Amino acid sequence: MRKIIIAGNWKLNKTIGEAKELVGQLKDLVKGISKVDIVVCPVYTALSAVSGQIADSDIGLGAQDLFWEEKGAFTGEVSASLLKDAGASYVIIGHSERRQYFCETDEWVNKKLNAALAAGLAPIVCVGETLSEREADKTFAVIERQLKGAFDGISGDDMKKCIIAYEPVWAIGTGKTATPQQAQDVHSFIREQIAVMFGSEVAQTMRIQYGGSVKPANAKELLSQPDIDGALVGGASLKAEDFAQIIKAGL
Ligand code: PEP
Repeated sequence: MRKIIIAGNWKLNKTIGEAKELVGQLKDLVKGISKVDIVVCPVYTALSAVSGQIADSDIGLGAQDLFWEEKGAFTGEVSASLLKDAGASYVIIGHSERRQYFCETDEWVNKKLNAALAAGLAPIVCVGETLSEREADKTFAVIERQLKGAFDGISGDDMKKCIIAYEPVWAIGTGKTATPQQAQDVHSFIREQIAVMFGSEVAQTMRIQYGGSVKPANAKELLSQPDIDGALVGGASLKAEDFAQIIKAGL
């Protein structure tokens, strides 16, 4: 049995004060829940403050990105060890907004993944097709390319520590959700590809989240699909009540 993991990607939102308030509310709402892994991913500047707030809870902390170099002349970047220093244990890598607005390539995703694993951070690696790719029947080809690029050279043991988030780009922040069947079809394809690359034990162990307009109203059905092991939640994670309901849908 794979443990459900629900992660909130707060994107570019919340001051330090607002972040503390949000996670404080969430803590109360999910107190005692240990059957689901819960993660929040605030902006870099709020990581340390949120880390302090959740120290006495089961909520995990993640960052939204990292750079692969450890230190040096890389103005504006943040390394894996600095994220750990701020209290993070997870990191999102290759989110579609980074691929789209910051020109991230599969090769970059692979370098970031290696840096995260070397530092002991659990990577949440995002893959997903655009609307035009889906309409051109390229969904599986795109996902296969992204998986091969991201996980090139990774060992099976390290692969087990990775989480994949399938996020169809057309469903992110648009209010359009993939149907549970559409999502399940791609999740099952991802697991098959991981089995080809790393063997079936790894494929059966690793968790695959769905992301794209997940909300309290659709979470239960999505999470009941056999290959959906959690959710990466954007907009709805900014409201403690909604996020808590999505977490409870995974119980
Ligand atoms: C995301 O940012 O990863 C995401 C899935 O956003 P939303 O839930 O708002 O679609």
